[in-house]
Amino acid sequence: MKYNFYAGPAILPHEVIEEAAKAVLDFNGMEFSILEISHRSKEFIAVMDEAVALVKELMHIGDEHEVLFLSGGASSQFYMAPMNILDETEKAAYVDTGTWASKAINDGKLYGHVDVIASSKDKNYNYIPKGYTIDPSYKYVHLTSNNTIFGTQYKSFPETSVPFVCDMSSDIFSRVIDVNKFDLIYAGAQKNMGPAGTTLVIVRKSILGKVSRKIPAMLKYTNHIEAGSMYNTPPVFPVYVSMLTLRWIKKNGGVSGIQKMNEAKAAALYNEIDRNPLFFCPNETEDRSNMNICFLLKDSELEKDFLTKCKEAGCIGLEGHRSVGGFRASTYNAMSMEGIQQLIGVMKEFEKNNG
Ligand SMILES: *Cc1c(COP(=O)(O)O)cnc(C)c1O
Repeated sequence: MKYNFYAGPAILPHEVIEEAAKAVLDFNGMEFSILEISHRSKEFIAVMDEAVALVKELMHIGDEHEVLFLSGGASSQFYMAPMNILDETEKAAYVDTGTWASKAINDGKLYGHVDVIASSKDKNYNYIPKGYTIDPSYKYVHLTSNNTIFGTQYKSFPETSVPFVCDMSSDIFSRVIDVNKFDLIYAGAQKNMGPAGTTLVIVRKSILGKVSRKIPAMLKYTNHIEAGSMYNTPPVFPVYVSMLTLRWIKKNGGVSGIQKMNEAKAAALYNEIDRNPLFFCPNETEDRSNMNICFLLKDSELEKDFLTKCKEAGCIGLEGHRSVGGFRASTYNAMSMEGIQQLIGVMKEFEKNNG
């Protein structure tokens, strides 16, 4: 048995992969592959409709928001968001909590005035900044809910009257979120929803159509809304597999059911990291991510040996990002408690042999 701890593209439920594999050969008894049917066919339109409906149902989204499946990855939202909602003369507030947040900041600066109102760069992003105020004059505030690389996560969001933009790429559908608090949410599929190639966008309609700049047709949210995410050929297969994953989430107790499992998995692994004298977690306890669990060996000389032991036990993809070092266990929705226990077992065994 192998356990997939990669940060992204990442683990998907096995039954989703099986269903997707069948559809590659014969989709819905059509005797065509899902890869070769028209996106305008009634069969694919049904897939898109179900995917959008499931997002709305699972996240309790009302009529004020639109749900889109776009392409270009979450990174395209770094520029698409400001392009659509920030005028040249306006200012936006960003919080810098790591690599992805910094990239969003850099692209935001191309379209208006950007203030970085808080940052955790001073401690290599090992905490979530708190206690700052968001001036009501900002056009929007941008946060990154879960920092995939550094392993920190907002446990609550600041209360603000300013429109709220959030990159939720690595914790979408991992916990209950009040979508009404957000004006724009985006998430690349490949962390917690599906394969790489589509990006989920949830946008409050009332924030759109207010900037004066010219926007290329493909980069205008309103065009994608009017066309039901079919302004151009959508990423058919990634949308299909995302839809299957959303069905799986619904079947497994919805987002609140999944959240309980995620909390139990993360608690088990953090408990072992804190208990085991060989390891430590570099992040502030209250800000630790439930999706990307970063930890290090106190004796970094042992790193290679530990990774070898992990691989021998079937635990794959645990190398930490180069900006943190050590190890990162990505424990997305589809990771089982069994996988977590397997990793904990390797850590205990390592303690016995090296303690
Ligand atoms: C992976 C990731 C991105 C980038 O996603 P792409 O789809 O590769 O563009 C952006 N933000 C966060 C938080 C991520 O984890």
